[in-house]
Amino acid sequence: MRSLPPVFSAVDLQRDPGRRLLKPALILMIPIVLVFMQITFSFGFSEDTIAEQQGSDNIAKPAPAQASANEPETPADNAEEAVHIVVPENDVQSSVPLVPREEILRSVPAAGKKVALTFDDGPSSKYTADYLRVLRENNVKATFFPIGRHIKSNANLAALIAGEGHEIGNHTYDHPNLKRQNKDSIRQQISRTSDLLNQRIQQEITLVRPPGGNYGPELEAVAAEMNMRVALWSVDPKDWEKNRTHKEIIANIKNHIGPGSIILLHEGKPETLKALPILINDLRQDGWEFVTVSELVGDRPASTTDRPSRGEKLPRICNRTALTSDSLI
Ligand SMILES: [Zn+2]
Repeated sequence: MRSLPPVFSAVDLQRDPGRRLLKPALILMIPIVLVFMQITFSFGFSEDTIAEQQGSDNIAKPAPAQASANEPETPADNAEEAVHIVVPENDVQSSVPLVPREEILRSVPAAGKKVALTFDDGPSSKYTADYLRVLRENNVKATFFPIGRHIKSNANLAALIAGEGHEIGNHTYDHPNLKRQNKDSIRQQISRTSDLLNQRIQQEITLVRPPGGNYGPELEAVAAEMNMRVALWSVDPKDWEKNRTHKEIIANIKNHIGPGSIILLHEGKPETLKALPILINDLRQDGWEFVTVSELVGDRPASTTDRPSRGEKLPRICNRTALTSDSLI
C-alpha cells in the first residue's frame, strides 16, 4: 500500500481540519478514483461477464461473418446489420441454385473445386455395404440413384444409404428407356420409386436420373410437374463396360474431371469398388472436394448438421432393422 502524501498527515489534520485541506483532498481523489477504476475494469469483470457482454452485442447487432472485428462500427453499419437479422444472408444464398431447376443437370461449373460422386443401379445386397464403408472411412458424401425394384428387395439398404448421410435420387422402377415411354408411364416409374423410398427414408427425393441418360420432352415435362431435377452427368468412366479395370476408371475420371463435375459410377461393380478409395485420395490431393448433387447445385446448403456423424445412431428405421454404421465394418 502506498504511503499517504504529506497533505494527509495527522499533523495537518489537527492544525487545519477544515477548508484548507478540502482542495488538495479533492485533487488527490482524482488519481485514487482513476486507480480504483483501473482495478475494477481489470479484475472486476470475469471472462464470462465479458463474453456475456459480447454475446449481448451479437444478439443486438449480429455482425456478418466477413466483417472484421477491428473495424470501427458506425451507426450506419449497425442499421444495415439490423436488416440482416430479418433476412439472414445464408437463407438468401441457399434459395438461389447455381443451375435453374428446369435445366438438365450435367455439371455445375460455378461450384468450383467441388464434384459429386454418383452411384447408379443399386442397392446391391452384395456390394452396397462395402461402398458405404469406403465412403464412410473417407468421409465422403455421395449421391445414389437406386432402381425401384432393387429398393423393394433391399429396403434396409436404401434406409442405410440415407442414414449414412448420402443423397438418394430416383432412377425409375424398372430401368426402362424413358425416350420410349409416354408421360403416364414415366410418371408411374418415378412415383412408384419415390413412394417406396418415402416409406423408408426421411429425405425429399428431388433428383431423377433417366436410365442410360435417355430422355425426351416427356421426362422434362413430368419432372417439372413433380418439381424434380433431371440429373445426368459430365464424367462417365464407363465402369459398366466388361473388363474395365479400376486403373482405367481412375485414369478416365482424372482426365475428364472439371469444376462441378458429376461423376457417373455404378453399384455392384468390383472394379469400381476397388477404384473408389484410390480415386478419392487422388482427387483430394488435387484439391477436389466431394459433395452431394443437391449440395453441388445449391439446392441444399453444404452442411453436415442434418447428418449423423461417425459413432452417432442412425435414423430410427435403421435401428429397427438392427443395422448400424458399425455393423458394416
Ligand atoms: Zn442405370
